[in-house]
Amino acid sequence: MKIICIGRNYWEHAMEMQADVPVNPVFFIKPDSCLLRNNQPFFYPEFTEDLHYELEVVLRINRLGRSIKPKFAHRYFDAITLGIDFTARDLQQECKQKGLPWEIAKAFDHSAPVGPFIPKEELGNINALDFRLEINGRVVQQGNTRDMIFGYEELIAYVSRFITFRTGDLIFTGTPKGVGPVQVGDRLQAYLGDRLMLDFFVR
Ligand code: MG
Repeated sequence: MKIICIGRNYWEHAMEMQADVPVNPVFFIKPDSCLLRNNQPFFYPEFTEDLHYELEVVLRINRLGRSIKPKFAHRYFDAITLGIDFTARDLQQECKQKGLPWEIAKAFDHSAPVGPFIPKEELGNINALDFRLEINGRVVQQGNTRDMIFGYEELIAYVSRFITFRTGDLIFTGTPKGVGPVQVGDRLQAYLGDRLMLDFFVR
């Protein structure tokens, strides 16, 4: 399986990154070695000194598809969770400046902790989901899926023009504003509405 990550999908986050608001979705891929499950601890990598959290709503693809039309896109995901798109911000800045690919900053081992998947029918209006991240009990990031620049259907339609989706693939749908660093010893807790979806330590 693969993980498709959408960049700059919340206007205020694009602003805080001093990036342009995209005309089309921006995406990159994390391999399956990025997954971290069951609230296992995340070990701070030795190659960065500025590791950032990015809390994101994550879709689970449930069928094979390519060139999916927006009106059919809702049939291609069946469950939702929260995930962290861990980013080595110092390495990412270096890559951006040099015009290099982002993999060393984004696609390293365990850079994608994900929570348990909830069938989308159980979540009510998935186009207005509140989610938030707390670090050591303090809210650091808060978002609502209504603020996405590109909605789920547009994201699936756009990405599938280029890349075939397979069952079990994940889409990280972008982070809202408020990204920032984590430190060794931090406890990260992520909530989707009132549900605790992630609860793990940085070691
Ligand atoms: Mg992200």
